[in-house]
Amino acid sequence: MSVEMTSRERVLAMLERKPVDRFPVITGSCMVAEYINRSGGFWPEYHSNAEMMVDVAGMMHTDAGMDNIVVPFGMFVEAVALGLEVNMGRITIQPSVKGFFKRPEDVKCERFLNDPYVRTTLKATKLAKAKFPDVAVTPFLVGPVTLAGYLMGVEKLSEMSYRCLDDEKLMDEIVEWFSIALEINRLYAGACIDSGADALYYSDASASPNLVIPDFYYRVGVPAEKELGDFIHCLGCPWELHICGNTIPIIEGMASTGANCLSVEQAVDMREVVEIAGDVPVAGNVTPLMMVEGTEEQIIAETRKGLDGGAKASMLGCGTPSLSTPDRLKLWSGAVAEWSREKLG
Ligand SMILES: [Zn+2]
Repeated sequence: MSVEMTSRERVLAMLERKPVDRFPVITGSCMVAEYINRSGGFWPEYHSNAEMMVDVAGMMHTDAGMDNIVVPFGMFVEAVALGLEVNMGRITIQPSVKGFFKRPEDVKCERFLNDPYVRTTLKATKLAKAKFPDVAVTPFLVGPVTLAGYLMGVEKLSEMSYRCLDDEKLMDEIVEWFSIALEINRLYAGACIDSGADALYYSDASASPNLVIPDFYYRVGVPAEKELGDFIHCLGCPWELHICGNTIPIIEGMASTGANCLSVEQAVDMREVVEIAGDVPVAGNVTPLMMVEGTEEQIIAETRKGLDGGAKASMLGCGTPSLSTPDRLKLWSGAVAEWSREKLG
């Protein structure tokens, strides 16, 4: 294919399994300290100021050469909007969720969309679309297993994940927490799509076999992600699913959710994942630390390894580290372009 595509066209074509002019290079969460400083952003303001957020996130495209722009900068918005305690981190540390609810009936979602952080995501999505119409704007959202874990407490989720499988009463409670998580997921997804999102990027970090057993993921996680994914597809939007850790035992489940792209960590072998995922495009696997301290040779080798393994887009294993250096990010996107030139002509 010789006609040059815009970044947005390239990402959407990849998600729709259509030909691309070159393989897209995409990012998940990104809160790169150097771009925050360069764009005049400051902590914690860039978490709640849409203009500042887009100025920082936009540099992942304008400077680093990514094909997508990602807002917001962490997996805390859903939790903070529900009134849970959140540690706002620092310029190098993403915010993290601390609190949880005692009972499902304590969760109140009526005012979710009025929360200032949720509104910042929506405003930033609109703004990014207006400023960068040729780039894929992919809001970064928390998947249902992870959100249910925020609601009930992540330790309780982990513990109940194996006990509930043969305890009907515990399963009823799990179902209750998950149905609230899905209600919030749907509210937020719908609002992001209304704001112009090109695709939704879900991290369902807590669905990892590191935290819940694969049987639980298949019985509870997959149906929840699929339900959310079907809702998103009904609104005409594609979505991506990221799960951390060694996901080999659950790739088949991830692929069955209907996600348009699976994102995996460096803990897994790309070839093996691609084989299990079948037709579903896979991205990820590039060691994030490469962007902080990798040499040119290492970055190029690591990038090529993922693409040679069958990845349909180049992506880091987890989010882009805060201490990533712009020169390394550019080496990475350059390596993807070079690989594509060789393979696609
Ligand atoms: Zn991850």
